[in-house]
Amino acid sequence: MGQFIKGLKNSLESKSLEHHLHPYTNPEVVADIGPQIIQSGDGVRVTDLEGKTYIEGMSGLWCASLGFKEPELVEAAVSQMKELPFYHSFTGKTSEPTIRLAEKLIEISPNNLQQVFFCNSGSEANDTAIKIVWYYQAAKGQAQKRKIISRKGSYHGVTLAAASLTALSYAQEGFSLPLDFALHTTWPHYFQNSYDNESEEDFAKRLASDLENLITLEGAENIGAFIAEPLMGAGGVILPPKEYFELIQPILKKHDILMIADEVICGFGRTGNMWGSETFNVCPDIITCAKGLSSAYIPISAVLMSKDIADEVEKQAVRLGQFGHGYTYSGHPVAAAVALKTLEIMEERSIIDHVKGLENLFLERVSGLKEFDCVGDIRAIGLIGAAEFIKPGTKRTKLDPKHKFSTRVVKAIQENGVIIRALPIDAIAFCPPLIIPSLTSHLAEPTEVQPDKSLPLNNRRWPFFS
Ligand code: PLP
Repeated sequence: MGQFIKGLKNSLESKSLEHHLHPYTNPEVVADIGPQIIQSGDGVRVTDLEGKTYIEGMSGLWCASLGFKEPELVEAAVSQMKELPFYHSFTGKTSEPTIRLAEKLIEISPNNLQQVFFCNSGSEANDTAIKIVWYYQAAKGQAQKRKIISRKGSYHGVTLAAASLTALSYAQEGFSLPLDFALHTTWPHYFQNSYDNESEEDFAKRLASDLENLITLEGAENIGAFIAEPLMGAGGVILPPKEYFELIQPILKKHDILMIADEVICGFGRTGNMWGSETFNVCPDIITCAKGLSSAYIPISAVLMSKDIADEVEKQAVRLGQFGHGYTYSGHPVAAAVALKTLEIMEERSIIDHVKGLENLFLERVSGLKEFDCVGDIRAIGLIGAAEFIKPGTKRTKLDPKHKFSTRVVKAIQENGVIIRALPIDAIAFCPPLIIPSLTSHLAEPTEVQPDKSLPLNNRRWPFFS
């Protein structure tokens, strides 16, 4: 057991280490430094058990878009709890908020989508989307169209199918994944994966041709769908290269392959439009969404599908006697009421206009990090951004992973009152609640930075704090 647990026996922290298996956590590290227990939240800030307050620069996990104390969301949950705390949607039953939310999602959806299926997390939504693709393809007499293509570096969740499409080793190692339906095409990261002197447009063309080659190799008759985050989030906040979706979608169409947009991070205003699909010209047959749908106040996710898919699913369900898929909590009325209120608040308070209004300043602030010679690339759109680290003096040579550079930068920034996130490609991400009023007034005064000889940035003020 680590130092921390030895020192503080019987504390809440040591109980957490003994009895709570923390997701995405190195048990040895957390046993040494102890878990951080967040006790309360207000606006863009959260406060931990020791009373230290932070700007939550990641909206938690890219999700608490309306901040951490929105009374109208609390009220929506409480009044629905009093009226009907639970009902399900099996065997034709359902509840009013569930129907109203489905109607609202279709009203705001891009590309004329028709029907919604509710789940509880982004992973479940992606697993459901895959099952719907299989069901749909079987209904059309092409049951062998089962393979699903995702991109290397993408994140689609952790359930068995979603984790197979998540093409990041940390989500697959130790689990004997991916399952064999999953195919992975080229990493669409221009900064790291382009050839010297290759333009962004040429890079996008190469990605499109790699995709087509993979389809030819595997046989279009075996491929049911392609899944992509409009902007890759957890894999590095990677924006698609120019023309990317314009080039690949005709290829998918030509081979009768469905397009799934994983909007779990991008959806609900994050990129400056309601959907990342609008920002990056994606025309999805299926959308999966979660996180910002309820501002993360309560678990809920959704799969939106086209009329063609909805019709085939219905016909197949009639043939088989039922649509044999559903979660106890699909369309939970309390979650649906909170999600409806989230969407109402977004409209009433013009949250997307607010994001658009801040977007240039946000980009300017993230761009300011370029002043550091260890920052090779910066990316930002809407209110999501990243800075990627490289070996100083090189164009894009990565730092030795043993330095865990981004983890140490995140730690230093957190010591100065802002929570951000280290990403696996040695980058740091910024994803503040969409309600952040400006990028200066809500930032904490930086505390004295303690000299840390291992961190070359320690005696320099980050532009993000100015
Ligand atoms: N898809 C994307 C793009 C995500 O970023 C995530 C989570 O971060 C997921 C799916 C999985 O969502 P969840 O953690 O709710 O299962």
